[in-house]
Amino acid sequence: MIMPNNLGRQYSLHAEEYKKKACEVLDSGWYILGKEVSAFEEEWARYIGAKYCVGLASGLDALWISFRLLNIGEGDEVIVCANAYIACVMGITMNGATPVFVEPDQYDNIDAEKIEEKVSDKTKAILAVHLYGQSCDMTKIMSLAQKYDLKVVEDCAQSHGNHWNGQTVGTFGDVGCFSFYPSKGCGAFGDAGCIVTNDEELAKKFKVFRNYGSEKRYHNMMVGSNSRLDEMQAGLLRIKLSHLDEFNEERCRIADRYYNEIKNPLIQFPKIRPGADSSWHQFVVHVSGHRDALMGFLKKQEIGTLIHYPIPPHLSEAYSYLGHKKGDFPIAEKYADEVLSLPMYNGMTNDEQQIVINAINEFNAEDVNNEFKG
Ligand SMILES: *Cc1c(COP(=O)(O)O)cnc(C)c1O
Repeated sequence: MIMPNNLGRQYSLHAEEYKKKACEVLDSGWYILGKEVSAFEEEWARYIGAKYCVGLASGLDALWISFRLLNIGEGDEVIVCANAYIACVMGITMNGATPVFVEPDQYDNIDAEKIEEKVSDKTKAILAVHLYGQSCDMTKIMSLAQKYDLKVVEDCAQSHGNHWNGQTVGTFGDVGCFSFYPSKGCGAFGDAGCIVTNDEELAKKFKVFRNYGSEKRYHNMMVGSNSRLDEMQAGLLRIKLSHLDEFNEERCRIADRYYNEIKNPLIQFPKIRPGADSSWHQFVVHVSGHRDALMGFLKKQEIGTLIHYPIPPHLSEAYSYLGHKKGDFPIAEKYADEVLSLPMYNGMTNDEQQIVINAINEFNAEDVNNEFKG
């Protein structure tokens, strides 16, 4: 059985290092906001190329706390791609702000050419989601932000260490938000997240907010939250970070093989925008008309695939209150019907890669349709 993602494989590449660190943290007697968190924040900020990093409890927290601290809430609009992950949209709506959707382009990211027509006098920010491991067009987004005086929040949950014109994502906007959910590029062994920023005041606010609004114990400056990164996750993330470039390079090699050896006219390969690179958080192909047939065909051969994402946020039950209907964002809706994420994980063997490639090359829509009819 080949799984779409196999976290145990990545773990087993450096298992002894993780075990040693876990024991160190257990033995330390200090479990929340300690030296591992401070060290990780420093190392992550340096890796990304930002001045400050603040560890948080999840990627969703990074998003909603960003909008909260940027004073974006009720009555405000935030622009986001229509093919986003639902958490991106929740990050906006948890403060009462309204998401304004923009269609994706051929690179599966927000179509920056279509942002301007959605800017109103209520627009306060753009949430730039770097989906699947590839940067958005940050040049265009930053110039629009400047023109209309908008904040820019970057959702880098899927793009740990990606670049736009050589600059690391997360450093363009006011805040860069990261999730360290186990399946993300630099994945924790539980939930974790962080923000990066170059704004010292803002970084300070995040530190206070994540700890009930207090800098000094029992002196609460604001109504905050509990969104602390713990010592265990921070310690383990430091080890993951030390291998992150290797992990990203390994997935690039797998992606290269898929590009070179999958030869099936039914498959549309992912496209990389000039100026961007990809860390292949997901290898997302488009299979127009035959996606579900291919998925079923692969499943029969014990090859697991995933759909990121089957229901665009505007059609999600959670957002029925926004009043959107089917047909409002036809490109995002079409993508939801044709995207398929192929198996992609660190520690994937050559044989496993070959099995996936062979199976996809064998796939023939007519055969499958006949089989389903028979
Ligand atoms: C995973 C993810 C999130 C949410 O992160 P959590 O840590 O699961 O809260 C947000 N945005 C994107 C694009 C993601 O992939």
